[in-house]
Amino acid sequence: MRIILATSNRHKLKEIQALMADTAFEVVGLQDYPELGEIPEDHDSMVANAIQKAQTVFDHTGHPTIADDSGIEIRALKWAPGVHSKRWTPEQTDAKNNEKLLRKLAGVSDRMAQYRCAMALVTTKGVVTAEGLCEGLIGHTNQGSGGFGYDPLFWPSAYPGRTMAEISMVEKNKISHRAAAFSQLPQMLTDTLLIT
Ligand code: IMP
Repeated sequence: MRIILATSNRHKLKEIQALMADTAFEVVGLQDYPELGEIPEDHDSMVANAIQKAQTVFDHTGHPTIADDSGIEIRALKWAPGVHSKRWTPEQTDAKNNEKLLRKLAGVSDRMAQYRCAMALVTTKGVVTAEGLCEGLIGHTNQGSGGFGYDPLFWPSAYPGRTMAEISMVEKNKISHRAAAFSQLPQMLTDTLLIT
């Protein structure tokens, strides 16, 4: 069955296609719906943003749609930037966001951080949601060239000695916040689509 993933982030689409590879569900992106343009995500929680994105695409296409919203939460920064992770600097680039994070944590010994992913599924039966977390520490310099976003600064607890930008996609898909949220998706789809 075809499921739409409401994202224009190719990297994320690949990660989720890999996560869903062994299931009966084929995950496609928004490439067939250019008229949708940039979908707003203007709520102050990740779960509300995920629902907004999935609902917008479902209303337009009528296909079961999933969307996620994710971000990084830093304990020493009272869990900021969270839902604002992408737009944390005026430039909204990974390089500037990572610079800001290093600046904010200069001289701070508590480096604990977590990625959070909120995921929403919208079908004719309504909305269901799930969440996933991935814990780690923030380093002192960028390290590695894989992944995206804050990955070169994020040292996942599950792979000591490497940043998230130094592990393979296969490894990331075993431990990531998206993996934790999306691992619930096959069951959610089965439960939702079987309900009459
Ligand atoms: P999005 O709304 O899910 O696209 O994520 C918002 C922002 O959170 C991204 O632009 C990244 O800065 C950050 N982020 C989310 N997931 C990841 C990840 O897996 N690695 C690194 N950064 C991430």
